[in-house]
Amino acid sequence: MANTEFPTGALMKGKRGMVMGVANKNSIAWGIARQLHAQGAKLAFSYQDETLEKRVRPLVDSLGQEPFMVTADVSSDKSMDACFKALENRWDKLDFLVHAIAFAGKEELQGSFTHNTTRPGFQRAMDISAFSFVDAARRASALMPSKEEGGGAMVSLTYLGSERVVPNYNVMGVAKAALEASTRYIARDLGPQGIRVNAISAGPMRTLAMAGISGGRTLMKTGKDWSMLKQDTTMEGIAGAALYLLSDLGKSCTGEILHVDAGFHAVAVPDIED
Ligand code: NAP
Repeated sequence: MANTEFPTGALMKGKRGMVMGVANKNSIAWGIARQLHAQGAKLAFSYQDETLEKRVRPLVDSLGQEPFMVTADVSSDKSMDACFKALENRWDKLDFLVHAIAFAGKEELQGSFTHNTTRPGFQRAMDISAFSFVDAARRASALMPSKEEGGGAMVSLTYLGSERVVPNYNVMGVAKAALEASTRYIARDLGPQGIRVNAISAGPMRTLAMAGISGGRTLMKTGKDWSMLKQDTTMEGIAGAALYLLSDLGKSCTGEILHVDAGFHAVAVPDIED
């Protein structure tokens, strides 16, 4: 797959990072990976299980770099132990981490948050969508260079449903609020080591994760119609933001939730026609 829509260059030359969350060619993680690759990064990819491996491998092969893929089910300590051991064995350092992982049961992504959220459903969403970043950040930071050697950078993906009520987003909104708060706490802990930690709050994108949310089509349409730019959020925009945050361009930025949604987040009332 060509990198035509992603600007090429050397902003990530010499940097190695792991991308977690590529499920298919529409995944946000894949757009970010292509942009980082186009700027010279060497990438490792984690995938949840063998089914995903079959889908992700052709994409990784299309990059033309030596493929480096590891299993990581983020809800399993054993799987995460093995993943980071494999990284440590293969590379002498890790410069960056991309976390683009979330999960909640379909039945909890519809209707009443109050009535449809179960204890196991709440715990699962929080575990996979928020705690997994805390866990991955801790493990990744141990492999990152010292401050003097350049430090490191991490980015996770969030959505406006953390700050405002979005119909059907429900427990995932609560998990994203936890993810964003975690981003700030991790950023403070790792700042002295020269590791920057940020999140991108992306506008709606047509991905598998989006397909699991009831009314996703309306979210997409509203996301465009109410936005300041009157545009859908683009993969290039999200990937460009990730490049900024993960490269030295973003050297003074940490603890930040960067909205990349064509300005939708700042609009309180849509256009008044009369
Ligand atoms: P996606 O392609 O479906 O990616 C979600 C990824 O999470 C998949 O690779 C999925 O793997 C993985 N995952 C779920 N449970 C996992 C587990 N236990 N262990 C390891 N991986 C697991 O959808 P996406 O939209 O690109 O989502 C990426 C991130 O962007 C998510 O954090 C999402 O909330 C966020 N985001 C999305 C939008 C949007 O509109 N699409 C907007 C803002 C933020 P499986 O396929 O194996 O489950």
